Amino acid sequence: MSHTTSKVILFSYTNYPGLITNLERQGVKMSQEDLLRHGSFTFDLEGVSRAASHQIVRHRIASFSQQSQRYVKITRSYGYLKPTGIPEDLKVPVEIHGHKLEVNFEDVMDLTRQAEEGFVAKGIKAEDSRYLRPNAATTNIVMSMSPRQLIHFFNLRCAPDAQWEIRDLAWSMYATVSLVAPTVFGPLPVADESEYVRKRVLLVKDLVEKQLGAFEKTLPGELFHLDLQLYFDLGHPVESFVRRY
Ligand SMILES: Cc1cc2nc3c(=O)[nH]c(=O)nc-3n(C[C@H](O)[C@H](O)[C@H](O)COP(=O)(O)OP(=O)(O)OC[C@H]3O[C@@H](n4cnc5c(N)ncnc54)[C@H](O)[C@@H]3O)c2cc1C
Repeated sequence: MSHTTSKVILFSYTNYPGLITNLERQGVKMSQEDLLRHGSFTFDLEGVSRAASHQIVRHRIASFSQQSQRYVKITRSYGYLKPTGIPEDLKVPVEIHGHKLEVNFEDVMDLTRQAEEGFVAKGIKAEDSRYLRPNAATTNIVMSMSPRQLIHFFNLRCAPDAQWEIRDLAWSMYATVSLVAPTVFGPLPVADESEYVRKRVLLVKDLVEKQLGAFEKTLPGELFHLDLQLYFDLGHPVESFVRRY
């Protein structure tokens, strides 16, 4: 089964108004720059390709927990993400044991999955059989970062030269943090250099202004769906959610 939708869920974040009030009660006044060093944002990123998760974990100043491939039971229904740039009907010739075949992207995904299951069925450990899994296979990853590190991440990964999948995730993450901490996450520094980023920052600002009222009415503990796709031309579908305190 092809897995074409990724999910970005911001499910834990520092309550900045509360933090600032408490600090001020103790007589501590912080500059904007100081505030960026404090606090934490935790995301659950679901349905992310292994190609993108490799890029995400290159960001060393963060904490990660990634779904284990060793223990997750393989079934014919595990997902993969197909780049939209690869046409549905594109077939390439392959040859195996003298037999010539024409295969498309889905065929290759299906073959590798069948081979992985077959190895497991023949008694090969799941942790070894998974070596057959392609970069398109999806995974889930939990990531926590401070605002300062997130801004660094956004500067690199919201930029037009970042790859479409991680860029879609980065913009979705930026939209969620802009909703819950608009005073902490202003326009991105990289917007000074890029018209593309500047335009999108304005779109996020507009989105946040329009959806703030509905977010504030969301009951504590519930997930609010931030509908970014209405505003953005994303490279693939990403659903964004924020847990309301
Ligand atoms: C468009 C794009 C293309 C890329 N292409 C490639 C590629 O072809 N090949 C490839 O290997 N990578 C590639 N990368 C990944 C890139 O090299 C970085 O690994 C990744 O962006 C993480 O950035 P970072 O090191 O600044 O972030 P983090 O690891 O989160 O670190 C943040 C900052 O903390 C400081 N820091 C962190 N750890 C240390 C340390 N140990 N010592 C000193 N300072 C430290 C640095 O100032 C660093 O900038 C690419 C990234 C982008 C955005």
